[in-house]
Parts: sequence; structure tokens; C-alpha cells
Amino acid sequence: MPLSPGIHYLTPTVPIHVLDAPEPGPVALIQAGIHGDEIAGVHALEELLEAGLHPQRGRLLVVPTMNRPAYRARQRAAPGGLDLNRCFPGDAGAPERERRLARRFMDLVLDERPALVATLHESMKRYDPAVTPSFGQTLVYGVDPVPPLVTRAVARLNDARQSEQEAWSPLYYPVATSSTEVIVDAIGCVGICVETWMGFEEARRIEMQKEVVAILLDEIGVLGEMNVKSFGGEA
Ligand SMILES: [Zn+2]
Repeated sequence: MPLSPGIHYLTPTVPIHVLDAPEPGPVALIQAGIHGDEIAGVHALEELLEAGLHPQRGRLLVVPTMNRPAYRARQRAAPGGLDLNRCFPGDAGAPERERRLARRFMDLVLDERPALVATLHESMKRYDPAVTPSFGQTLVYGVDPVPPLVTRAVARLNDARQSEQEAWSPLYYPVATSSTEVIVDAIGCVGICVETWMGFEEARRIEMQKEVVAILLDEIGVLGEMNVKSFGGEA
């Protein structure tokens, strides 16, 4: 059953914000901090929530920090733990915290059926088409052909970039065991991994993550163009 509006908890320290619009529409799910050393998306989602981020149509689900112990350690995985991004679809009876959390998240996705699932990541390596893998800065997708939403969002990001260095590219990079692809396989949503480049200073990466989120939410139809600019994106 879908969640009621408000804040729910996947674990005692992992809140999920459930925001309903006055008008019906699609469901979008945005999460960050599945890798604890990639912090820009975590801070971007917290800042957007503090600024009053709210959908104009449909429902918006926000999980600012998926892997709290990893985030506290500022490590990809929690000390001694597993890579949460490789634990999907998870297992409610598993001894590992990460597999149990993945299962809770997967059940949520199956109940809510989001049209868009975006996971906010960061990458040390500058994107170079000749170097595989390299991700900063890309919108990564795992299906062929490219979802039109990805093409449109990249074009808008590049229109708004402050320098050539800030260029964005779409990147087809299927990883069958990643959380996003397990979810896409299960429900057929648009699944995107957002990757900012860690070569930029933290404050700028946070701004760019906010911009990506605003544009993705507008493109899927929950945010509405009037709100895009106020939440960091160029309309
Ligand atoms: Zn990551």
C-alpha cells in the first residue's frame, strides 16, 4: 500500500519524505547517499526540503541519505559493511543491514510505482567518452535506446552551465546489479544515476545537484516549470 503523506522511516535514521501535490500526476522518487562519500546529493536534497520543495502534480518521494552509517563515515560503504548499491533487490531476513534496507526500499518502490527513480552520486573521475568507466558529469541510464527525458534534461543542464567544464553528457552504462537497474527491471520506470564531478568545490556540486533534481522533476511532470527556477534549475 502507498505511504500516507508526511515523513516515514525506512530505518530509525533513514527518513523518507512523502509529498503530495494538490493535482494528480506521476510519482517521482529521488534518493541520495547510497554511497556515503558522495555527499553533494545528500546536501542538495536536504536544502531543497528546507526550501519547501513541493510537487505541483502527483507525488514526490525523497530519501536524502540512503546509507546513514556510510555517510557518517564518509565512505562508499559503512565500515565493515556492504555496498548498498549492490544489495538490491535485498532480503528481509538477511543478516546484513544493507540487504534488509534494500528490501524495504524495493517493497516501497513496488507499492509506489514511481515513473522516475533518480539516485544522486558523485565521481572522482572526469567523464571522458574514451575512458570507461568515467562518470563526472553524466546522467547514467541502463536501457537502450536512451530515455527521451535524459536527452532533454542534459540539454537543459548544458544550456544552464556556467562554464565548459560543467558540461553534462548522457551515458549508457548498464550495470545489471545496480539498485537503479534492478528497480527499472522490476517496474519499468525511467531510472537515472546523476553523477557530479568531485573536481568542483562542494558548494558548486550541491548547486548542480539541486539543478538536476529540479529539471528531472519538471521533466517527469511533478514540479511544474514555475517552480524550477526557485529550486535551483533554469526554467
Ligand atoms: Zn555512487
